[in-house]
Amino acid sequence: MTKTTILFSLLFCLISFQINAQRYLGVKPTDSGGLLSYAQASYDVRQYDLDLSILIEQKAIRGSVRIQADVLSPIDQIVLDLDSAFEVSKVVLEKEGALLPIDFEHKDLKLYCTPHFTFQPQEEFAIRVYYSGKPKVAPRPPWVGGFMWEETEEGKPWIATACQFDGADLWFPCKDHPSDEAEHVRLNITVPKGLEVVSNGVLENVSKSGDSNTFQWIVNSPINNYNIALNIAPYEHLKLDYTNVLGEEMPLNWWVLPEHKKQAKAQFPQFKDHLKFYEKVLGPYPFRSEKYGIVETPHLGMEHQTAIAYGADFTNNEFGFDFLHHHELGHEWWGNLVTASDWKDFWIHEGFCIYMQVLYAEELGGMPAYHKYISTLKPKVRNKQALAPLESKSTLEKYFFGPCYIESDGDIYTKGALVLHTLRYLVGEEALLKGIRKLAYPTKEAERSTDGSQCHFVNSTDFIRIMEEESGMELDWYFELYLRQPDLPNLVINQTESNLTLQWDTPKKLAFPMPVEVVIDGKKKRIEVGLEEVKIPLEKGVKEVLVDPENWIYKASDQSEKEKVRAAFLAQFPKAKLKEVKRKAHFTQYYEIYLPQPLDHSNPKNGTFEQKMYLGHVDFEKPILIETEGYQLYNYPREISKITKGNQLLVEYRFYGESVPKGGIPWKYLTNDLAIEDYHRIVSKLKNVYTGKWISSGVSKGGETTLIYKSKYPNDVDVAVPYVAPIILGVEDPRTDQHINTVGEKTTRKRITEFQRTVLQNRTEVLKEIEQYAAKKEMKFSVGLEVALEYAVLEFPFSYWQWGGNVSDIPTKDAPAKELFNYLNQIVGISFYSDITIDRLLPSYYQHMKELGYYGFDTTPVADLLEIVHKPTNSFFAPQNVDLTYNPNYMKEVVDFLESKGDNILYIYGEYDTWGACAVNPSDKTNALKMVLKKGSHATRIRHFSVEDQIRIYSQLKDWLGVKVEALGDLCLEKEEEI
Ligand SMILES: [Zn+2]
Repeated sequence: MTKTTILFSLLFCLISFQINAQRYLGVKPTDSGGLLSYAQASYDVRQYDLDLSILIEQKAIRGSVRIQADVLSPIDQIVLDLDSAFEVSKVVLEKEGALLPIDFEHKDLKLYCTPHFTFQPQEEFAIRVYYSGKPKVAPRPPWVGGFMWEETEEGKPWIATACQFDGADLWFPCKDHPSDEAEHVRLNITVPKGLEVVSNGVLENVSKSGDSNTFQWIVNSPINNYNIALNIAPYEHLKLDYTNVLGEEMPLNWWVLPEHKKQAKAQFPQFKDHLKFYEKVLGPYPFRSEKYGIVETPHLGMEHQTAIAYGADFTNNEFGFDFLHHHELGHEWWGNLVTASDWKDFWIHEGFCIYMQVLYAEELGGMPAYHKYISTLKPKVRNKQALAPLESKSTLEKYFFGPCYIESDGDIYTKGALVLHTLRYLVGEEALLKGIRKLAYPTKEAERSTDGSQCHFVNSTDFIRIMEEESGMELDWYFELYLRQPDLPNLVINQTESNLTLQWDTPKKLAFPMPVEVVIDGKKKRIEVGLEEVKIPLEKGVKEVLVDPENWIYKASDQSEKEKVRAAFLAQFPKAKLKEVKRKAHFTQYYEIYLPQPLDHSNPKNGTFEQKMYLGHVDFEKPILIETEGYQLYNYPREISKITKGNQLLVEYRFYGESVPKGGIPWKYLTNDLAIEDYHRIVSKLKNVYTGKWISSGVSKGGETTLIYKSKYPNDVDVAVPYVAPIILGVEDPRTDQHINTVGEKTTRKRITEFQRTVLQNRTEVLKEIEQYAAKKEMKFSVGLEVALEYAVLEFPFSYWQWGGNVSDIPTKDAPAKELFNYLNQIVGISFYSDITIDRLLPSYYQHMKELGYYGFDTTPVADLLEIVHKPTNSFFAPQNVDLTYNPNYMKEVVDFLESKGDNILYIYGEYDTWGACAVNPSDKTNALKMVLKKGSHATRIRHFSVEDQIRIYSQLKDWLGVKVEALGDLCLEKEEEI
């Protein structure tokens, strides 16, 4: 027995049986399609003849398959696909009436057949492959496919195949690619007496021999290899009369298990309505010369041509129809009549089919049902990969989500239908319906033909061209945005008393001239909106302004969702000012916010300042990150919110950046305690709105703030993630000097000292460089250039280790002054001593001198070369004429708390970072995780750690948060196991 290797996921997987929901399948299928190899592009399959015996007791098959093909370009090897589960005993070539055995090799899921001569273009070949074996048992049919060896309730065999994602090479040798459909297929299937075989096409003959019967099914229309299917059971055959749209009689056939006959009979009549609907919208049933057939299967369903697999439970959905039948029947047009020649365009199969279900809901329940159906699709879309990219894709890449491919990606279903929905709004219902019908049947002649010539290949560009013809509009921009890249457009909506402003915010600034319907006090208008802001004046006393009220445009977030966020926020902070701005990353809405905060929380009458924030919204129930910035605000998506796919609130530290009170900084209110009260007030209120887990985080001084906050209000957040956060003890904490003198290689430390000395030995020339630089950048240095130079030299070792300098970049002793300056500037940044920076950092120096503590400078290595700065101190840069008395207990209390009681804290540090010398060392009593990146700098983030370390970090976060950490899935936590 061959051992089957199956990929098991470490994640526990939830399987939903909704056909278009995202599923964690746990096992990944073998692949199908993708870029076609030269060898396989060189021939075109005309016919497959399958002669197979089904050996039920052994769960095996045995027989042969004949492959007949046209040669398109010279080949000396016929390459077929065949699963490793089979043993090939011989391959014969039909040549001038003779049967010649030829060489073959079966490896890596391919069967290489070598006739020892070259087939020329326009020749044809026919080979027969004799093989046997136990086909893969489908682990998760129909998605991860294979054979199903089931039993009916009466214990009779019930066998089926499904292999869309894996391809038909799971059970017979074939060319497994959607671009090649055999025009003819003959299936001779031998089974024990008492069982029926139902397959594609027409039943030509049943021949009896002893205890077995051979069923011969013949297909004379082009068929996708994955649609060739076997269904074996003691079926009963139900028939229903039907007159098609052309007035021809055409029975409907349903093969059901005897025990389900009653339910099937009750459900059957509505299938006629489905068929009638499709014929009305898309044209005649394409395979009427063969049959309309449904077969009951042990798996949910599949679009097997003229033998639709039905494994649903004979019930209707909330819109009043049998979804599974309606969907699979739709594939007779979208998939079987028209076929995408590459899986990259399979939204034409699935998205079009789903849109047919939406239209059918409309047929039954009118526009309310239509819109309701559309609203159910939106939450399922992932928008992680382009719906229909230009490059070739395999089934795995299109139906699943990489890199693990154990989780299905249903965008080709849901987003596919939404793209047609919005297109209907843009071009109108008539043009859309004409366009999709034309894609199905390009001509009247095609509608009339039944000999197989009605079937054709399509891709997205055909549809774009047809829609441009039908609408008379240029539509490239529309499809570029919705098909070729994954992100959605966002309509930025802001309303004041006198104006409504609208603006499209699109990924990569893609053009998007989508008109927007606006209803002002009942009056409807279509407004032209583009990437620039459009202002619509509002008359005084306007009561209601509705923007795209029916949500015809598929966008990141609809008006009603935006209003919910605004209202929820303002309910907590009525005086806050919210302005919608361009969104970032995965957030569906993004706001710039100014929040009035008391200068003094214990005495709110003492005035207020406006604290600036950015809110990235996804979902009220998802985790929310509060970034406790240490300085002014930096507006970008943070690692933690990306990892959790959660909300993000960036909060500027009081009195930095734009959060400086009018009239300047009142120094007495610049205390850590009051800053913590700012965060505490925000979190306490917003917890009423954001009900998911709360995570606080910050980088460097921001991380320090995260930790101080945690020590003051341990229960405000569920998890704290401080990055490279020092807890400094003393105005000049000696640990940083100690670090500088011991970190890294001794030779590197020597080079650093040598560089410091070289710079000062070339003082005059380097000063000239600084002068030129300052003039060019228009920087003012009131401290004096020489002071700036000496401080920069003294600062150099600290910065070198903080930011992870590279020893080979350090200029040598004989380097020119320009090089010396450039390197000093690169590592320290001479602008650090410019008036503008010193002024900007005044509050920081103040805080360091009063409460936070700072570092000292070691003059020893350069003492003999210093001319001015003999007693360097950071207090030199602090605000003058302000009390700077240091409180030695403040940070001591914080660190005592953290080391003994700081739970649910993930500390991220870099080994080389100078600030790492002041890292927290949580004791065993705490439930904390401290991760130090080997040779890491002050720029260390989670993503820089090894995969093993990241798994450890994500698993810990998952434990603390009790929610799925999306990054875990992206890491592909798979191991191979043999069963
Ligand atoms: Zn489908």
